[in-house]
Amino acid sequence: MFVKEGIIASPGIAIAKAFVYEKIAVEVNKNKTDDTQAEIEKFHVALKLSHQQLESIRLKAIAELGEDEGAIFEAHAMVLDDPEFVEGVEAEINENQLSADFAVNVVTDRFYAIFDQMDDPYFSARAADIKDVGTRVQNNILGIVQADLSSLNEDVIIIADDLTPSDTAQMDKKRVMGFATNIGSRTSHTAIMARSLEIPAVLGLCDITDTVKTGDLMVVDGLTGKVCINPTNEQLASYENEKQKYQDYLKELEELKDLDAITLDGRKIELVGNIGEPNDVAGVLKNGGVGVGLYRTEFLYMNSDVMPSEEKQFAAYRSVLEAFPNGPVVIRTLDIGGDKKLPYLPMDNELNPFLGLRAIRLCLKEVGLFKTQLRAILRASIYGHAHIMFPMISSITEVRQAKAILFDCMKELDAEQVAYDKAVKVGVMIEIPSAAIAADIICKEVDFFSIGTNDLCQYTLAVDRMNQEVSYLYDPFNPAILRLIKQVTATSDKKENFFTGMCGEMAGDPAAAVLLLGLGLYEFSMSALAIPQIKKIIRSVRYEDAKVIAETALNLETGEEIMDFIQDAMKKLNINI
Ligand code: PEP
Ligand code: MG
Repeated sequence: MFVKEGIIASPGIAIAKAFVYEKIAVEVNKNKTDDTQAEIEKFHVALKLSHQQLESIRLKAIAELGEDEGAIFEAHAMVLDDPEFVEGVEAEINENQLSADFAVNVVTDRFYAIFDQMDDPYFSARAADIKDVGTRVQNNILGIVQADLSSLNEDVIIIADDLTPSDTAQMDKKRVMGFATNIGSRTSHTAIMARSLEIPAVLGLCDITDTVKTGDLMVVDGLTGKVCINPTNEQLASYENEKQKYQDYLKELEELKDLDAITLDGRKIELVGNIGEPNDVAGVLKNGGVGVGLYRTEFLYMNSDVMPSEEKQFAAYRSVLEAFPNGPVVIRTLDIGGDKKLPYLPMDNELNPFLGLRAIRLCLKEVGLFKTQLRAILRASIYGHAHIMFPMISSITEVRQAKAILFDCMKELDAEQVAYDKAVKVGVMIEIPSAAIAADIICKEVDFFSIGTNDLCQYTLAVDRMNQEVSYLYDPFNPAILRLIKQVTATSDKKENFFTGMCGEMAGDPAAAVLLLGLGLYEFSMSALAIPQIKKIIRSVRYEDAKVIAETALNLETGEEIMDFIQDAMKKLNINI
């Protein structure tokens, strides 16, 4: 028996035999060639074969996983057709007399380095795609046939260094019970894939491929981040028990899917999802979210090589709105700047980018860009219940400026006789302390607030939200944050037909749910997977009790005291998280 700890990438417990998926390492031939013509031919034969393989993987991926996974392989095929790639390899062969496989290696590494250096997770993920394509072409040049995951004859846990999109697309999904890999993070392809296949995964185990042999009995515990190799009978029984408990728990959550998020004494809460792109809607629906509380539209911009056109944006917003005929869809206008950049929009390097030209500040400067987005949202607004939300508002002046531009867009559409929802709701994110403190002023101009605790903590506590060194100070339970939240909800309570929601991570934290409910929050927006658990908590508590708990918490002195008190209070109410 042997236990190792890694990164939790996908929850659940899997128990099965290990299948160590080792790829044959590609040894590039670094000798110079005299026959460049023959190498060029080898390269083109391999390109053709790679195309055929990618097409069959693409079709399998579409059939088993959907259009999106299929699109990854379309992108792979595009690399094969990219003149920079093809001509780059040809040039290495012709000019430097490299063998075909070495030339592919050199050019792939060059591409990889460019993408890998980009801070943006989207582009770093593209780096992995490029490596995947390059390796495929090299294998085909060298005639290497890698182990086949497409026909497994028993249930297995896949053990690998890492898994590429090609590996996961080809794999026999019915037989794969879990993943355990040497490398990978919560946002790596393997993690995303495991979550979408809903199979447990623990990644970042460093040397799991050396520790496990094919055929070893294994447990992947995606609840605690541990893997257990050849467990004792006693351990096995305990894991079987935990597995059953988790499955019962999921079943219980699933039964809540179509029920309202309503407290025992009848306060109805709106539970909605945070999404980054239209495809995320499926997860929100599946988990019982009644709408979208935060559509981070910046991904539409970041996932594109050019500024997305009004038409492209319109289509994306419309598809999300149509998915929720009865629920709200809060579309946040572009929040770029800070750590998020657009390759096609030159921006100065700033000393303090998070305090610089970010979000609404940038949109008020780049009015053309802003208007394109507002027109697209307005045009889509007739397809559902659109709410427009401005990010990073620090004062009422910015709200007025943004609304003036919105009204200009409305006038343009009127003149063009294009329909839009004239009663479209307009709101702001409360994520800068000044906006929370002046909520009573700002609320005069808007229909709703959504508290962005991710930035509100960063700006209130002066803690860089990405800096590990100071992460111990980043505490949404800090009394200062609770007071700001209370100030915002107290203000909004006084205005009719107005609501306050929250779309920062805190809204999806089970430990915070009773507190936030008691502080008067009406709408909770979170990643889809968090919705069922928060619903369960809301349905197990009385609003009147939650208010008393929040009131007491507001009088405590430290985040730790507050956290302890809340945990205790929840236990007394029999709420287990
Ligand atoms: C927030 O700041 O809480 C928020 C939801 O926005 P983002 O995380 O996109 O900055
Ligand atoms: Mg924010």
